[in-house]
Amino acid sequence: MALERTFSILKPDATERNLTGAVNAVIEKAGLRIVAQKRIHMTRNQAETFYGVHRERPFFGELVDFMVSAPVVVQVLEGDNAIARYRDVMGATNPANAADGTIRKLFAKSVGENTVHGSDAPETAAIEIAQFFAGNEIVG
Ligand code: GDP
Repeated sequence: MALERTFSILKPDATERNLTGAVNAVIEKAGLRIVAQKRIHMTRNQAETFYGVHRERPFFGELVDFMVSAPVVVQVLEGDNAIARYRDVMGATNPANAADGTIRKLFAKSVGENTVHGSDAPETAAIEIAQFFAGNEIVG
């Protein structure tokens, strides 16, 4: 199995409800290591850049408003097949469809306020990590 890194965000609904430790416990129990982590308040520009692929979607404005509404925790997670593994641990985008035991099933409020982000492929993981972390901030 390949040791990979993926990019994670604990979204505003997680920080607002003081759930960052609870979410991190699920992440660590799944065998993923948090090798970088910081709490930031995203600027609108950062959120628009990050979700640029969704710019034409009807929910884009709502998504950006949400991501800048409160602090977030950005993270780099490391582990065997970390990208797919974290997507499994996160659960489906809409918590109504998320499997039992997944972060979104446990904690998400709605399809928009769904507690976590995780990269969907190696290329996006690399771009997303580089948007928020310098190399020397990641300590594996
Ligand atoms: P993900 O990879 O599972 O996070 O899902 P997507 O890449 O499809 O969507 C990115 C993010 O946009 C989701 O995590 C949600 O926060 C948000 N989003 C997706 N669909 C909707 C929607 O129908 N309404 C709203 N308000 N937000 C959405």
